[in-house]
Amino acid sequence: MHKPKFVVVTGGVLSGLGKGLFIASLGKILKMRGYNVIPIKIDPYMNVDAGTMNPMEHGEVFVLNDGSEVDMDLGTYERFLDVNLTTKSNITTGKIYKKVIEKERKGEYLGKTVQLIPHLTAELKSWYREVAGDADIVLIEIGGTVGDIENQIFLESVRELSLEEDVFFIHSTLVPVIKVVGEQKTKPTQQSVRMLREIGIFPDMIYCRSEKPLLDNIKKKISRFCGVPEDYIISGPDVSNIYDIPLLLEDQGVGEKVLRGLGLEERKIIDDELSKWKKFVNNIDNPKRTVKIAITGKYTYLHDSYVSILEALRHCSGELSCKIDLKWIETTDIESGRIDVKEALGDVDGIIVPGGFGSRGTEGKIECIRYARENNIPFLGLCFGFQLAVIEHARNLCGLKDANSTEINPNTPHPVIDILPEQKKIKDKGATMRLGAHEAILKDGTIVRKLYGKDVVSERHRHRYEVNPDYIKILEKNGLIFSGVSPSGRLMEFLERPDHKFFVATQAHPEFTSRPLKPNPLFLGFVKACLIQGQ
Ligand code: GLN
Repeated sequence: MHKPKFVVVTGGVLSGLGKGLFIASLGKILKMRGYNVIPIKIDPYMNVDAGTMNPMEHGEVFVLNDGSEVDMDLGTYERFLDVNLTTKSNITTGKIYKKVIEKERKGEYLGKTVQLIPHLTAELKSWYREVAGDADIVLIEIGGTVGDIENQIFLESVRELSLEEDVFFIHSTLVPVIKVVGEQKTKPTQQSVRMLREIGIFPDMIYCRSEKPLLDNIKKKISRFCGVPEDYIISGPDVSNIYDIPLLLEDQGVGEKVLRGLGLEERKIIDDELSKWKKFVNNIDNPKRTVKIAITGKYTYLHDSYVSILEALRHCSGELSCKIDLKWIETTDIESGRIDVKEALGDVDGIIVPGGFGSRGTEGKIECIRYARENNIPFLGLCFGFQLAVIEHARNLCGLKDANSTEINPNTPHPVIDILPEQKKIKDKGATMRLGAHEAILKDGTIVRKLYGKDVVSERHRHRYEVNPDYIKILEKNGLIFSGVSPSGRLMEFLERPDHKFFVATQAHPEFTSRPLKPNPLFLGFVKACLIQGQ
């Protein structure tokens, strides 16, 4: 019988140290050895999924092909591992409790007192095994830090799992340097490992995040106090390019060590895959050219809210060996007149208007789109950015004064963007948008058709509004081309302007499908146009 092996990564000291990046990178070097790996992220919050959370607080809501709204770490996993995951790879407290409570109501535990231990832990263990499928290795990341009340039951579930299966435990910590002392301090690591051992988990490896590489005497000290061999204390210094991390782990033999710990064959990395990855990393680290791209949005101070867009751009950097200088535009400043649109965009080679909800900053975004159109500056509109491009066109080229989306102004005289009919009766907010992968048919002879190189494409969605079918004729008559539509022909999915260098937008979120070595075609086309613009 197929028996998958498990790697569990726990966190200590602080959250937000990049456990997700570590796991994704570890998965990458295992995959480069021909192992079939699958990740699971555990988020110990009560929300059933990330869809109802504020991106300012929790980072971007990532969307999978199957339509689930998940933690942004799933995006990291998909990008590094080049796989399409399902909702099963993200467990939350809300999701697992819901499952157990539903079973209880059906009578599946009839006569029993249903308890966290053993019932919830049993449910978790069977979830881990089910996700495993035919994978060789399951990588489980437990969100939060050891000592948190909310992740205790998940830690208990993996402790139980280790009694039944081969589990390799990695604890990820922080080794800070106090500036005046200038010394790498090990105490927080010692204490978090002690807490982990108290609950019955003994780490096999410790991954130490620090500003600079870990010094040898510090490794020795951590090894001595934490009971982990010195060569299993792994250094995780700060990097400017996250795609360097698999190479850093490879240099420290992490792949072989984990395989040895799991009793799996220590295969050599596939040379061709490694050299392609190194070239991609090198292109980003040593760029030949630079482009300046503006991104508009209201969470401009929290880049985690836009991580997939930033990564999609980085994939283009790796393909084209160009540095992308970002300029964040807070569009409320344009609206209020504090900054002039020309001052904001006069020095950029391209403009991205990303997704968004609500009315704040939208007039400023529409101004930016007008500026891009009138000055022939490459423009990429994503979801809300697509809808706002339609509004700009309607107002300024179709004579539809005060045209708007009913999301922004329910009383607009020209609702060129309106709620999807099937959304009208929906009251609940959780997982009710038009979500996940949907196909679009691309029109012959358009830019979008050329970029994708095929007639039918699938991209992921997350929206409630659409181009109002009543206005399509007038919008098209005045120079807008809807270059991609849903298979039924009703939903407008892509638009472009034939009279412009590069003016493309989509109702979808193409940033979710961009991968290192396989940048999304729309982003690649856009950055190429920006490079020409910058010459
Ligand atoms: N608010 C818009 C809608 O719901 C756009 C959503 C988005 O940009 N993800 O349709």
